[in-house]
Amino acid sequence: MHVIVCIKQVPDSQKVKVDPKTGVLLRSSADTKMNPYDLYALETAIRIKEQTGCRLTALSMGPLSAKEVIAEAMAMGVDDGYLLSDRRFGGADVKATGYTLAQGIKHIDEDYDLIICGRQTTDGDTAQVGPSVSEYLGIPHVSWCRQIDEISEKEIAVKQNLNEYLLTVAMEYPCLITVEKGIYQPRLPSYRLQKASEKKEIRIITLDDLPDNDPDHYGASGSATQVEGIFEPNSELISEVYDGDGLSSARQLYDKLVSEKFVEVR
Ligand SMILES: Cc1cc2nc3c(=O)[nH]c(=O)nc-3n(C[C@H](O)[C@H](O)[C@H](O)COP(=O)(O)OP(=O)(O)OC[C@H]3O[C@@H](n4cnc5c(N)ncnc54)[C@H](O)[C@@H]3O)c2cc1C
Repeated sequence: MHVIVCIKQVPDSQKVKVDPKTGVLLRSSADTKMNPYDLYALETAIRIKEQTGCRLTALSMGPLSAKEVIAEAMAMGVDDGYLLSDRRFGGADVKATGYTLAQGIKHIDEDYDLIICGRQTTDGDTAQVGPSVSEYLGIPHVSWCRQIDEISEKEIAVKQNLNEYLLTVAMEYPCLITVEKGIYQPRLPSYRLQKASEKKEIRIITLDDLPDNDPDHYGASGSATQVEGIFEPNSELISEVYDGDGLSSARQLYDKLVSEKFVEVR
């Protein structure tokens, strides 16, 4: 059995700065870290490995610095690490990210069993990448898993959080789940595993390695959306109290959001 966990390196959002002239994210201004939601995906995968003895692989897409989160995953208990890294993947939106990860998974192992993603990221925050990977792979998925009920060599049964209900779903492999924060308490990286994994190679996957290596399907060219601009919200705005009825308070709030550029009027 082979389980692949998708993990992303994200900026420490408290420290991100935006270039006021170009609107480009100043990545050098931001410390980076593992997407916090992916720690839950990793903990889920490691527990499955402990129970079934499966092979466990971590996959990320990003710049070479993303090797750091793969090394961290290995120090938690992951066996192998792969990084999809190529300039031609740059500028990818959710669609292109999902497609690239799906292609990366096919490159690593056509016979994978289970893919595990976090619920969402703390930078892009869309929660769409997991489902889009499953669609590109043509496999079923369950998002927002709150509990693993049963796991065997053939199938997995989970509880899906539908806010007012918990839905019990069983799926045969291959399939994908995205897991909720709090499904398990993530473990800390182990010094022993960190030392043991130091000599392990984190393999880089480029566009040329993928089953589909048409550059138009990746990065900005393969993206359906274009970012027109990005700006830093005014973090000094703390609180304001509006007088009047609901409608006039809503109007004042709307005007404030427009004047502070949280909302754009076209
Ligand atoms: C037009 C456009 C251009 C963009 N250009 C850039 C850019 O140049 N650089 C940039 O950093 N971002 C860019 N982005 C943002 C980028 O599209 C998103 O960060 C990316 O699609 C992932 O979406 P998300 O963060 O919302 O993931 P979510 O859907 O919230 O993530 C859910 C889960 O999917 C998995 N996952 C998500 N992303 C990755 C990944 N990269 N590797 C492994 N697993 C992953 C994780 O398990 C994660 O918990 C751009 C977005 C748009 C719309």
